[in-house]
Amino acid sequence: MIIVMQQQAKPAQVENVVRRIEDLGYKVHLSRGEARTIIGIIGADEHLIHESSFEAMDGVEKTMRVMQPYKVASRDFSEVRTVIDVNGVPIGGQRIVVMAGPCSIEGREMIIETAHAVKEAGATILRGGAFKPRSSPYSFQGLGEEGLRYLAEAREETGLPVITEVMTPEDIQIVGDYADILQVGARNTQNYSLLRALGNQPKPVFLKRGMSSTIEELLMSSEYILSGGNMNVMLCERGIRTFETATRFTFDINAIPLLKELTHLPVVADPAHGTGKHSLVTPVAMGAVAAGADAIMVEVHPDPAAAWSDGPQSLTLDRFAALMKTLAPVAESVGRTL
Ligand code: PEP
Ligand code: MN
Repeated sequence: MIIVMQQQAKPAQVENVVRRIEDLGYKVHLSRGEARTIIGIIGADEHLIHESSFEAMDGVEKTMRVMQPYKVASRDFSEVRTVIDVNGVPIGGQRIVVMAGPCSIEGREMIIETAHAVKEAGATILRGGAFKPRSSPYSFQGLGEEGLRYLAEAREETGLPVITEVMTPEDIQIVGDYADILQVGARNTQNYSLLRALGNQPKPVFLKRGMSSTIEELLMSSEYILSGGNMNVMLCERGIRTFETATRFTFDINAIPLLKELTHLPVVADPAHGTGKHSLVTPVAMGAVAAGADAIMVEVHPDPAAAWSDGPQSLTLDRFAALMKTLAPVAESVGRTL
């Protein structure tokens, strides 16, 4: 349920409503728009609350039930779009954020070299996998904590915040000790115990769409995190399974503007996994930015041919720099900057 405050509601009246919600055992999300303040109630059984208990309060204009099955993620829940601050980098604001780096951290030198190069080209967040969810148990599984240490070193050297994947609830502590954003991969989009655990910790969460998840399933997955009280969730389209085999996955461009309509959360596009082919990364990234994506995630490797994972879809350092140059005017054409 949301409570819409009157335009002229006083701060003390907003505070009274917030206190009443908290006294009932629920969490609160405050969104102050230009015209009015909306107070969102977060809790698994919030539907049991009676509207009348708030409608009589001073400063309250009305209460509203969110009709979508996803409540906190819904556009109705928040008067303003969510902007996530990651060590001073806002995600969901006017500037399009580019997250770049290798699929897997393969060693200290390669992640540091890549970090410097992507920063130089204009990336604002460094990515790199240490715990890898590989389709085969015989494939490289990531360097684990050693990889996280190299990633943190690359952050110290470049100042770029870092994102990396977490696969199990047990790993949240250790990954959270090193990373600035915790990534949930496509194979874990519906791992509800992982999602719940991520709702109870403070780091921002980057939630990928499962390769066979509908948009509604993705939003319901985000709700597991949001309903725990962690509002810093971004959603990522990374390609879905279709009958098409010419590309690794089918990047669902529809998802970008549709998610922007349905939710206040930032929307990210991953054209590397979405296509599986480096030559398609730039055109699909351009499409995603034009369609309204708030951020792009791309895989970049100093030597893609020798990459331990996802080489075919990885950009060389030079190709990444070229991508940034190509994307800038596209961002400008939709009123954004890169
Ligand atoms: C990745 O980002 O390297 C990754 C494993 O992505 P996905 O979960 O989308 O397959
Ligand atoms: Mn990858």
